[in-house]
This record gives sequence, structure tokens and C-alpha cells, in this order.
Amino acid sequence: MEVEKNRAHYTALVREYNEKTAEQDGRQPAGYIRTFGCQQNLSDSEKLKGMLFEMGYAISDQPDGASLVLFNTCAVREHAEGRALGNLTALKAAKEQNKHMIIGLCGCMVQQPHLVDKIKGQYPYVDLVVGTHAIAKLPELIWKKITKGGYITDISEMKGDGLSEDLPTRRDGDLKAWVPIIHGCDNFCSFCVVPLVRGRERSRTPENVLTEVSGLVRGGYKDITLLGQNVNSYGKTITPPSSFPRLLREINDIPGKFRVRFMTSHPKDCTKELIDAIADCEKVCNHIHLPVQSGSDRILEAMNRGYTAAGYLDLIDYARKKIPGVAFTSDIIVGFPGEDESDFAATIDLVEKVGYHSLFTFLYSKRAGTKAAELPDHTSREEKIARLDKLLEVQRVLGRKQYDGLIGKTLRVLCEEQGKTDPARMTGRSEHNVIVEFNGDNTYAGKFVNVRVEEALQWAVIGKIEK
Ligand code: SAH
Ligand code: SF4
Repeated sequence: MEVEKNRAHYTALVREYNEKTAEQDGRQPAGYIRTFGCQQNLSDSEKLKGMLFEMGYAISDQPDGASLVLFNTCAVREHAEGRALGNLTALKAAKEQNKHMIIGLCGCMVQQPHLVDKIKGQYPYVDLVVGTHAIAKLPELIWKKITKGGYITDISEMKGDGLSEDLPTRRDGDLKAWVPIIHGCDNFCSFCVVPLVRGRERSRTPENVLTEVSGLVRGGYKDITLLGQNVNSYGKTITPPSSFPRLLREINDIPGKFRVRFMTSHPKDCTKELIDAIADCEKVCNHIHLPVQSGSDRILEAMNRGYTAAGYLDLIDYARKKIPGVAFTSDIIVGFPGEDESDFAATIDLVEKVGYHSLFTFLYSKRAGTKAAELPDHTSREEKIARLDKLLEVQRVLGRKQYDGLIGKTLRVLCEEQGKTDPARMTGRSEHNVIVEFNGDNTYAGKFVNVRVEEALQWAVIGKIEK
């Protein structure tokens, strides 16, 4: 309550300030947000945008000329941090042109104290640092900056569950929507910084989730993705407890034409009960993103993943039996400390056994504060890159086979926009998240259509509408 009252108070103050500035300058102050990283960050940025809007900022699509520039950062890999810092360097000139520009950093990267120190030392033109637990305090921190100046930071841990249910949202699209259901992560996979920067697991109540999804469906949204670092842990922290399979069934009962996706499902908590729920619920897509990370039991143990390759393959078998046509996608880390050629061969073997529609592959990145950062790592970067290239090549062939297997099948497609390869065609996605191009015009946009696949490409399939 306190946080909400404070937010309303400071929102009004910043708004009044912005209205006065608009009168003086003859134009409304603009805010620009750039998002790095995962879907959770995209969802958070929609809330940041909602708050900016309430504070009287126009939303700009470029930093030049903006009064407020926010980078919503990622910390999962060094590369993501490097990109944010590189783009920050590029902002220096813009700030020199416009001394009143406020530059702020939010998100996972700045929830790490060593980075906040680094930014203070190396990027003195940054004004604001808003940690992952402080997002609802954005108006207060902006007001502090406006009235007191200096380097304003808040990376304190949350009090209570810190869920801030009432944050306004300005969604990026009008067809697809993100709905976070669980925040934080308690799994402590040894390579991963997320539990350190996003805090402990907190589930939203089923009432709040169901109200949000129903509102979206009434507002015309047709593709809803439930978000969480491990959606399978949903419901454990609330009273009365709930569960992810139960939540899926409740969402499936909401009337209307829409589809539901979810990510991410951790294999250690992916139960047969969940697979049964996916099979039973016609609105839940027949697609499971089930990040395996490695096919070697030794590496899976060192990663603290809590399952074996055989256990993972059993789940895949069960899902294939229960859900006809189910598609799997996955994340794989190559070059985890101590991974040798036989471990990597086990990963290739597993990838061949599963037959994923697509894979997100990553070179291991050492993250400060994680258990894996302390492990010896004797494999050269060249060897790791060679393994990554091999994995990509294996997946290129296998992924193509999955797409070829769709030829002759009829897919239910949510039609989105004009085709990329041929503007005379429309494009949409199947429930497996496969891009489908088909004959048709803009009148199909936002509608579900049945498309019979005639041709497969590496990254999409092409077909004709079935009347
Ligand atoms: N919660 C999700 C993953 C979130 S991070 C899950 O458990 O599946 C998304 C992906 O980034 C992970 O699945 C992993 O493949 C990759 N990743 C995370 N930390 C990494 C690191 N230190 N180096 C390389 N890849 C990493
Ligand atoms: Fe990171 Fe593991 Fe949590 Fe996913 S489940 S966010 S990989 S610690």
C-alpha cells in the first residue's frame, strides 16, 4: 500500500513538472526505453512505459531529443552487459548536447553492486540506477533526480512480495501479450545469475492472473504468454497454494478465442500432470520450451539442474504420446566448465534423439557470484566455438527435417502481418510458434485461419488457406 501511495504522489509531482516544462518549451518531454534480454524484461519495459506515460512523458522511439532515457538491462551473459554498456557510451554525446537529459539504467545488470560501482566510475553521465526490486519507485527516483540532482541509485532488496500488482502497462502490441505469473527464481543453477538479481520466487495469485488474462481476451488479445523463470513452481508460495497445471486449466476455461503459451518450464519440475493439462486444454499451445542445457549427466549435475538425460527423454516420450504433434524447443549451453568431448557428444546425441523444432544455443559465460564461476575451465575458446558450430549444424539439419514434416499438414495460424519474403502474402504463427506464410491480405490480420503447408524453408513454412 505504502509503495502504491508513494508512486501516485511522485507520479503527480513529475507530471506537474513535465506539464510546466511542456508549456515553456512548446513540446511535451519525451521518454525513450530500450530493452535488452528476455521476455520478462520486455514485460517490465511495458510497465516502465506505462509509468512514463502516467508521468506525462510522450513515448519516443529514439534517444535523441528525449528528456529521459532508460535502458532496461540484462545480466544473463557478459555479451548482454557489453551491449548495454556499449550503447551507453554512444549516449554520452547526446547528453553533452542536452544537459537536462536524465539517463537511467534498470533491470538485472544493475542489481549487481559491482556494476553499480563500475558505472559510477566509468559512466559518470548516468543519473539513475533502478534495481529490479525498485521498479515501482521509478517516479520517486526521477523526482529525487529532478529536485536534488546527483547519482541516484536504489538496488535495495524488496520488502514483502514486492509484486506491485497495480503498475500501469502500455503494451507493445494488440494481439500478443506477456503475463508474468511468477517472479524470481530459487533454483540456483550453478551457471546462472538470475536468482541473484531477481530474488526469491513469488507467485501472483490465481485471481490476479485470471483477471488480467480475462481483461486481455476481452480487449482482443489472442496470443498470451505466461512468464516465469520456472512456471512449474507456480503457486507454491501463496495461500491457499495453487499449481501450474491447475492455473492452465482455469485459464483454458476463460471464454473466447485465444491461445496460451508459457515459458520457461524447468524439466526437473515438468510433471506428467502438467503434460496431461497441456493435452486436455485446447487453448494451450502444443509447444513446450524445455531447456535441457546439456545432454551429459555429469555436466547436468555440475549445473545443479536436478534431472538426468534419461529422465528428460522420458518426459519427451510421455509428452509425444499424450499430445499429438507436440513441438519442443530448448536452450543449450556449450562450454560449461569441465565439459569435455564426450560430454559434448552426449549433448549432440540428446539433440538428435529429441528432434527440436528450434534451439537457442549459448556459449557459457562466467557470471560473478555464481557457483560455476569458481570451477576450473581448461577448454579453449576456439574449442568451445567449434563445438557450438557443430551443434548449430546438427540442429540446422534436424530443424529442417521438423519443418519438412509439416508439409501436407494443416496448421491453425494466428495471422499477424504482411509477409517478409513476399508482401503479397500474409504471415502468422502456428501454435508451435513456427512462422507460416500464406496467400491472403490484411483482412485476415488478427484472425485464426487454417493453413495447409505446401513448402518448408529453414525458418518458416509456406502454405494456402483452407476455406
Ligand atoms: N529460467 C530459464 C532460463 C533463463 S536464462 C530456465 O531455467 O530455463 C535463458 C537461458 O540463458 C538459459 O536457459 C541458459 O541456456 C542461458 N544462460 C543462462 N546463464 C548463462 C550463462 N552463464 N552462460 C551462458 N548461457 C546462460
Ligand atoms: Fe537461472 Fe536455473 Fe533459475 Fe532458469 S531455473 S533462471 S537457469 S537459476
